[in-house]
Amino acid sequence: MPDAVHDAFQRPLASLRLSVTDRCNLRCRYCMPEDEYVWLPRASILTFEELDRVVRVFSTLGVRKVRLTGGEPLLRHDLPALVRMIARIPQIEDLALTTNGLLLAKQAAALRAAGLQRVTVSLDTLRPERMLAFAKSARHGDVLAGIRAARDAGFEHVKLNSVVIRGFNDDELGDLVEFGRAEGAELRFIEYMDVGGATHWSMDQVVSQRDMLEALTRRYGPIAPVAQTGGDARAPAERFRLPDGTTFGIIASVTAPFCRTCDRSRVTADGTWFLCLYAGRGVDLRAPLRGGASDDDLAALIRATWQGRTDRGAEARLGVADRGALYRIDSLRADPHREMHTRGG
Ligand code: SAM
Ligand code: SF4
Ligand code: SF4
Repeated sequence: MPDAVHDAFQRPLASLRLSVTDRCNLRCRYCMPEDEYVWLPRASILTFEELDRVVRVFSTLGVRKVRLTGGEPLLRHDLPALVRMIARIPQIEDLALTTNGLLLAKQAAALRAAGLQRVTVSLDTLRPERMLAFAKSARHGDVLAGIRAARDAGFEHVKLNSVVIRGFNDDELGDLVEFGRAEGAELRFIEYMDVGGATHWSMDQVVSQRDMLEALTRRYGPIAPVAQTGGDARAPAERFRLPDGTTFGIIASVTAPFCRTCDRSRVTADGTWFLCLYAGRGVDLRAPLRGGASDDDLAALIRATWQGRTDRGAEARLGVADRGALYRIDSLRADPHREMHTRGG
């Protein structure tokens, strides 16, 4: 097997986020605040066979980790069938899923049986009325049931993602940590990012890693960083330990971006490959895929593109004066590929 391909900054092609649908059954304010969107045309959505082929080709170039995402990935019919296909690819060492949890209780056991290794559930608040206001859904109980079902299905290290937003849920950090501890799940607090989709974003709503650590220190006492080793050294989350041993992570994508070690890229449900969450445009893999290209042709395209990669989107955003939302809603409507729910977070 050839060595992993590296980009212009010596970052390997190692981790792939595979979006299986751009549709979602929530309307989180930081991601999809509108009621209606311009969706990817149905005929453009890759079949499971096509997605499997894409992952196989990436796996020959160094990809070892795959995370299924969306939109809401559990809306894709029979997702366990896709999991089964990808789990059979020998080079894929880590197969994970990020979900909002609404449909997880029904699917957790089948996903586990199909070979899914890890699950991350997004949970921003413990208060149903806040979820109703912020994500336009009254199904908070279904998310909690999904988290429990994941553990019951045998997923050992369930993670919980919380996007922290000033004035919305920044008073719940400790309560979320307590909830995670009780459920045997680790919290990962995420700084609110100015990605496409976050049309209501402003810097004053971002709760920085430092602010989060201060708030948790006030409640729990001194917090120690956890040394990251091996594969974790490239992980976006920095991990910390409370005095009682409970660990949690913070993804400081806004105030301390980690572009320098970024080994991840994204394939949208219609086969558009983005080298960075902030990239203005992606590479069309669907046309060659459906146009008769061989696996070697696809691999050559991917290799050459990755070798030229210089993206460091979040770091570049640090230098933007008067930073506001990345896109306005009209420019998102002009190209749904700019949306966070299309790119998969
Ligand atoms: N629907 C699934 C979910 O919510 O878990 C998967 C897709 S979602 C786009 C993936 C992750 O992106 C979620 O954990 C979500 O919280 C995060 N996300 C979305 N918009 C964000 C933003 N503006 N800033 C930071 N994280 C964001
Ligand atoms: Fe929320 Fe995920 Fe849906 Fe975005 S894709 S609206 S983060 S549930
Ligand atoms: Fe990687 Fe782009 Fe995110 Fe930086 S902004 S960590 S380069 S995806």
